Amino acid sequence: MPEGKLAGRVALVTGASRGIGRAIALRCAGEGAAVAINYLSGPEPVQGKDNHADASALVEEIKRRGGRAIAAEADVSNGEQVSRMVARIDAELGTVDVLINNAGIETIVPFLEMDEQQYQRVLDVNLKGEWLCAQAVVRRLVAEGQPGAIVNIASIQSGMALPGRSHYAPSKRGVEALTRNLAVELAPYRIRVNCINPGLIATDMTDWVMKDEQILPIILDKIPLRRAGEPDEIAQVAIFLASGDASYVTGQCIYVDGGWIVT
Ligand code: NAP
Repeated sequence: MPEGKLAGRVALVTGASRGIGRAIALRCAGEGAAVAINYLSGPEPVQGKDNHADASALVEEIKRRGGRAIAAEADVSNGEQVSRMVARIDAELGTVDVLINNAGIETIVPFLEMDEQQYQRVLDVNLKGEWLCAQAVVRRLVAEGQPGAIVNIASIQSGMALPGRSHYAPSKRGVEALTRNLAVELAPYRIRVNCINPGLIATDMTDWVMKDEQILPIILDKIPLRRAGEPDEIAQVAIFLASGDASYVTGQCIYVDGGWIVT
């Protein structure tokens, strides 16, 4: 029998082929959960990144460490793909009772130049995607009378304004509101819903910031801990919120940002 804070649980981590999602998936497996590694794979590897290969490699790594995992391709903004993915995980691993809604995209486009499609895609992936995955997972949990935990990934930008993010910031503020609403609506089913607001975390999404010798020091100067965070520092908090350690915590949004939001 697996041991750990998530022993016997089945976790779905969206956008887990790399970055924060990958770190969370590894921690979930390390804590004894069977893990579905969701990813989005385009027809061609984008910027040299092959998400299908990355997700398969992560599955193999988890199996090598003695865990259970499958790769689960789906665009989280597409309801049919999400339903098919959750049904497949159910058949291969069991009922998902830990959902980490992590998949997200960020583009930086001045408000006056942004078109409707650019706005819509970010809202669809970042906000509707979390709603779709939550509904597909919760319907099964409720039908089976099982408890569960959902951890949504928002952003420090839920609470702060940066130029060029008139789509991204509202999508993440929406994730906070979704978290609170679902926490209230799902409490009677013993399903807890919480949210993490990461600050600057070193991943592909922020690679350009980490390499920008002018912008990076300006940002670090605003962060009391004076450094970017690592994906695993988000994963540790995600495990806390998903596990029995947080059995009386629901509807909360936790900033994991080195103190940036309070400056
Ligand atoms: P990342 O390195 O860019 O990884 C994002 C992951 O989500 C990728 O695997 C990506 O796959 C996947 N994804 C994107 N669209 C998807 C879709 N429609 N369906 C399924 N998967 C999809 O980003 P990250 O930095 O790890 O960010 C993870 C989450 O944290 C995001 O929600 C992000 O907004 C949030 N966040 C990050 C930071 C930070 O500083 N890094 C700060 C605050 C919040 P593709 O490559 O195929 O798109």
